[in-house]
Amino acid sequence: MGSLVVQPRSRLFHGHEWVYATDVKIRSGDPEPGDVVTLKDVRGRPLGSAIFNPKSQIIARRFSFRRQDLDAEFFVRRIERAWKLRQRLGIDTTLCRVVWSESDGVPGLIVDRYGDHVVIQTLTLAMSLREDLIVEAIKQVFSPQTITARNEVAVRRAEGMDCEKKMLHGSQPAPFSLQTAGMTFQIDVWDGQKTGLYLDQIDNYSSVARWAKGKRVIDCFCNQGGFAQACAQAGAASVLGVDSSESALASAAVNSSSLNIDWKAANVFDYLKEAESKNETSDLIVLDPPSFTRTKGSVNDALRGYKEIHLRAMKMLPPGGILATFSCSHHISTGDFYTMIGDAAVDARRKLRLIDTYRQRADHPIILGMPETEYLRGYAFEIVGGW
Ligand code: SAH
Repeated sequence: MGSLVVQPRSRLFHGHEWVYATDVKIRSGDPEPGDVVTLKDVRGRPLGSAIFNPKSQIIARRFSFRRQDLDAEFFVRRIERAWKLRQRLGIDTTLCRVVWSESDGVPGLIVDRYGDHVVIQTLTLAMSLREDLIVEAIKQVFSPQTITARNEVAVRRAEGMDCEKKMLHGSQPAPFSLQTAGMTFQIDVWDGQKTGLYLDQIDNYSSVARWAKGKRVIDCFCNQGGFAQACAQAGAASVLGVDSSESALASAAVNSSSLNIDWKAANVFDYLKEAESKNETSDLIVLDPPSFTRTKGSVNDALRGYKEIHLRAMKMLPPGGILATFSCSHHISTGDFYTMIGDAAVDARRKLRLIDTYRQRADHPIILGMPETEYLRGYAFEIVGGW
């Protein structure tokens, strides 16, 4: 088995599980890309087992403090352990992220469950090479009807892999609907966004909807309209969902056929600009944009984009109005996000009071010491009237 000697003061010694190429002092044993390697400190003391890929800047990702192979038994054990955690969390496990990469000790493997159907992503070479073992383990634990791989994710390129989607078990399922917390969602494991749904937001719909009774609500970047549905059910006076994806809106309309919600296919930047110029107002605006940045380098551009939509949304909210806003990029820190919102508030001449905070659902667990695992931040602010 190959091994890497890790430089002192590497992030591995500070609670992180990644080894960057620059953290490696000595590489020995000639490991192949995708192999398991042993990590050691400069005194030769073992630091555990990691997956290795010299094509990536993150040359190794530790998955065990012991000497451990990635065999069939390993995957069954890790998946069962992750599944037991989800069952303890008190969330609806019918729609659920069962395995979330580093947070479940399987770096680069994502397993989402939509009832009898499972969707996986293999984002590291080591996981991709062991796809067969992973499929067998999932069959053993869940006996699903189908397993789909949705590997159309750019991060695979950093590992020297292509994007792809394919059936790994069963035949391609037709889109179907699932219910959770009284809401309905269309699950298209083949063509839906991400692996089918934004699972990380599910619990936040009802939290935001607490503010919705009697209010005029706009759900910006609504996708399948989770916030819109929950707000309509909570007794909103009117609800509008805006998204640029026609197919997401088509699903949203099916989900909410018994509710009174308007849907608009538009770029939210254009929509807000126009609404603001017409002096339109709203009582509750949800902003849940996609990640505007995938890299550290473009954080400033992303913050400019965030600020623009925040500024416009705030101008549409009278005193007492509520802004529920989310950022789903770990590159945007809490401090960056707050500062941006504060700057937008100053420009919009609004005073904001924080009334609630939100985060990714608990099936996307945060690992202390790995800031990348904490990526979804959300806040509800009330516009304070003159005092
Ligand atoms: N709120 C949604 C998730 C939003 S994800 C939920 O809870 O499920 C981001 C959404 O923004 C996607 O549906 C995508 O289609 C949409 N989108 C991306 N860029 C957009 C833009 N400029 N204007 C409008 N919608 C956009």
